[in-house]
Amino acid sequence: MSIEPAFFIGHGSPMNALEHNAVVQQWRSVVQGCRPKAVLMISAHWYTKGTAVTAMPSPKTIHDFYGFPEALHQVQYPAPGSPELAAEIKTLLAPHQVELDLNWGLDHGAWSVMMHMFPSADIPVVQLSLNQDLSPAAHLELAKKLAPLRQQGVMIIGSGNVVHNLRMLDWQSTQPPLWAEQFNRQIIEFLLTKNFAAIAQYQNLGEAARLAVPHPDHFLPLLYVLGTTLDGDEISLFNDEILYGALSMLSVQLSHKRL
Ligand code: ZN
Repeated sequence: MSIEPAFFIGHGSPMNALEHNAVVQQWRSVVQGCRPKAVLMISAHWYTKGTAVTAMPSPKTIHDFYGFPEALHQVQYPAPGSPELAAEIKTLLAPHQVELDLNWGLDHGAWSVMMHMFPSADIPVVQLSLNQDLSPAAHLELAKKLAPLRQQGVMIIGSGNVVHNLRMLDWQSTQPPLWAEQFNRQIIEFLLTKNFAAIAQYQNLGEAARLAVPHPDHFLPLLYVLGTTLDGDEISLFNDEILYGALSMLSVQLSHKRL
């Protein structure tokens, strides 16, 4: 079986679910021809005490936002779950404790992206939560245990944003502020040199990091994708733009060279 690619997707506004802009066109085009057995999704919007994995056969669509048009609240993404994959993830991550969850479902970090990548909603999706008690470096280490899934036909997708500061959003922005540019550029440099340990130490990047990542939830999904890197992977970037001065859409693809 060929090795599935892994993606970090900068998801931005939930409205992307319903839009047909250049950003979402890229989400569609990067998976053209892909038909994974299942998707393991790590979304910024499931940040929990302890680590959990969705283990229900039919995850519900969660509308975890306020103040958006009714059409967005009506969206359903009825992809099946995979209790088998959830159990396998629990085994792979042991001795780290993983709870098999039957209450969550697919949050908008997951479905706003999946609706474009796999619009027919017929590929099973399992979500893994972000354990709020782990350091970024510990998240990266945990993610390494998930790498074998890519060799079994599972596509891994992290959904968040490298720069995500809702308090600093400026709808009129035409030029991103220096701190956003600087942080985004530094992360790109680390990505292109595969210096993932430095990315896990992003808190060392000073004031720019404090402004770009005021809360770790949108940044951590990137570490999960990087943790699943395999020998022979190529790394490529897309959607490298900063919207509204404080929201980086930067996205990353790991793809395995066919030998
Ligand atoms: Zn988000």
